[in-house]
Amino acid sequence: LEPKEEFEHSSLAVDVMRPRRSDPSLAVLTQEGMSVGEVEALVESTHYSGFPVVVSEESQRLVGFVLRRDLLISIDNARKRQEGIVSASIVVFTEHMPAQAADAPPALRLRGIMDLSPFTVTDHTPMDITVDIFRKLGLRQCLVTHNGRLLGIITKKDILKHMAQIANRDPDSILFN
Ligand code: ADP
Repeated sequence: LEPKEEFEHSSLAVDVMRPRRSDPSLAVLTQEGMSVGEVEALVESTHYSGFPVVVSEESQRLVGFVLRRDLLISIDNARKRQEGIVSASIVVFTEHMPAQAADAPPALRLRGIMDLSPFTVTDHTPMDITVDIFRKLGLRQCLVTHNGRLLGIITKKDILKHMAQIANRDPDSILFN
């Protein structure tokens, strides 16, 4: 097969990632400033297995990735065992503590449960390469960026659905079988 033909079969990470144009935006956590109550509300209003952590809503610069399970367990433990942790406590993923008012409740530090180097591809990465990375590294999800800004997420299931679509459309596609 000519390289050119192979290229025609391949979609890009941006075609497979979520959210789609019509979907609600990516559910992200900011590295500092969200309260325990806000984090709980976000996690409970979705069913996602994980959440990217960004510097700020405006910058959308990726800092890390936290699993839903780890977030829920850590918050639950902290509420039960850590002195002063309440809904208004600030959740902190940064290394250093942000300045807080003297009368603010203690912050909840969660850097320890964050994956500091989640795998990323750019929006223009061909899907055959992305699939290869998933296979070789045994990824469950991968984040998609453009010029350092977080755009979306691709899970293993998203890839399986995409492969099924391709197989239906084009049973002879050599890329995914
Ligand atoms: P799975 O794909 O295995 O069901 P998830 O439950 O985490 O895994 O994701 C469900 C869908 O939501 C997938 O299509 C995925 O791309 C998307 N998704 C995952 N995490 C987020 C997130 N934090 N914000 C928005 N969409 C997400």
